[in-house]
Amino acid sequence: ALSAADVAAWIRRAAELVAADAEHLTRLDAAIGDGDHGLNLDRGFAAAVAALPSGDAAPGKVLIAAGRAIVSKTGGASGPLYGTALRRAGKAFGDAAEIDAAALGAGLQAALDGVRELGQAEPGDKTMVDALGPAAAAALAAADLPSAVRAAADAASEGAEATVAMRARKGRASYLGERSVGHMDPGAASTALLLRALADVAS
Ligand code: ADP
Ligand code: MG
Ligand code: MG
Repeated sequence: ALSAADVAAWIRRAAELVAADAEHLTRLDAAIGDGDHGLNLDRGFAAAVAALPSGDAAPGKVLIAAGRAIVSKTGGASGPLYGTALRRAGKAFGDAAEIDAAALGAGLQAALDGVRELGQAEPGDKTMVDALGPAAAAALAAADLPSAVRAAADAASEGAEATVAMRARKGRASYLGERSVGHMDPGAASTALLLRALADVAS
């Protein structure tokens, strides 16, 4: 199971991977958006790391603190969406001291619900929903935490790959219409990266 320390380690690892991959994320966003996704997330996750509670907060409280920092420090559409995702997952975790496979699945599902409420994107609209949705489903179907984490990371990265063929119907990329086809959605790519960070610390 994931402890609060594991959840904090996830946020730190996510910040590392986002910083290392910022240029790639920005390049994806330059192709079909405004070229700031890497920069937005790099700022947001640096703020999340700085906001991690010291001491023995529950895993849910760690995520709520990180989500708040991301909402307040991240520009663009992705800031409120990722901030909401982390806060909703944190709320779903409640006061639990440890997160098992079922709780992780419920947390990812709550994150997905929050993103969909806020952004109104359907599956297939070429957004982070197309990585987060499959990740939540995969985690909910897994028997134990290590396999839930691995399955979520794999499903998110397959989901991100699948956005290449999609036409964007939400966010800036939707302005391009048919010309958005043939490029990976940057937010789906970053969702896959965040779940890889979780797999790095938990599987
Ligand atoms: P901005 O487009 O404001 O510059 P970012 O570049 O940081 O913000 O983030 C863009 C990503 O946000 C997109 O690739 C997409 O995955 C996600 N996104 C944008 N709008 C929505 C939405 N309505 N619902 C879900 N995800 C969205
Ligand atoms: Mg952008
Ligand atoms: Mg922008």
